[in-house]
Parts: sequence; C-alpha cells; structure tokens
Amino acid sequence: MHLLNFITRFSGDNECFQYFRRIREHAGFECNNCGGKYHIWDDRTDQFRCIRCEEMIHLKTGTALEGSALPIKYWLLAAYLLTCEEKTYSASEVHRNIDYMGSAEVDKMLGRLDTLMKGFGCHVNFEMLLLACVKNR
Ligand SMILES: [Zn+2]
Repeated sequence: MHLLNFITRFSGDNECFQYFRRIREHAGFECNNCGGKYHIWDDRTDQFRCIRCEEMIHLKTGTALEGSALPIKYWLLAAYLLTCEEKTYSASEVHRNIDYMGSAEVDKMLGRLDTLMKGFGCHVNFEMLLLACVKNR
C-alpha cells in the first residue's frame, strides 16, 4: 500500500476504528469473560456484546492495543511505517514521526509491535502485523 492510499483509506478516527473492528472480527472473536465465540456489535456503545454471557467488550480489550491510551490511528500509522514496502522505518524514526504528547505510550506501542514483528521471522506486511495485534491475548 502506498502512502497516499494509506492516508486516503485511514483519514479519520472512524475509518481506523472500523478497520480494526473488521480485522478483529476476521481473526475470530473470543469473549474474554467466558470464551464464547459469538458476539453482536452494539452500535450504541461501540463495543462487542458476547451472546453467551452478555459481557460488553471494548474493541481494544484482549489485543495488543489493550491498555494503550493511543488512538487506534496511531497504531495503524506505526504498523504501516514499520512494514511499508517502499521504505521500512525504524522504531526511532516512527517515534519521531508520531506527534503524541505521551512519549511513554509511543514507546509502549512500539515495543509491543516490535515483539510481534520478531515472531514472524520474515518480512511482515501491514495486515499480518495487525492480525498479530488482534491475536495477542
Ligand atoms: Zn462471554
């Protein structure tokens, strides 16, 4: 994916949120409370609701993004920069290019992404890295 395509596709918070939701649903939902595999999406609260136990589950819960104060768009941008085919950016370059007040949050995100990337042992693309984020439970 070229940079212009990335910018167009993920221009707003909602696009990033919906994309990450689709990635998570594609990977297969599993309730953190009861292990149930089926859910519905609650538009009112923007959360999953487990069909078995009714637990409400935030989109980031149970993923590499859990506990991160960074909006999803920062995760997508970092994943893109770390995996783009035209030029792969180092973690320090990504850190410099992500303008966010909480430097520790960016460090935490990059550390988690680095750990996930090392698990592949080969070149990893954007979608593979995001799937790894979702499956990080
Ligand atoms: Zn459940």
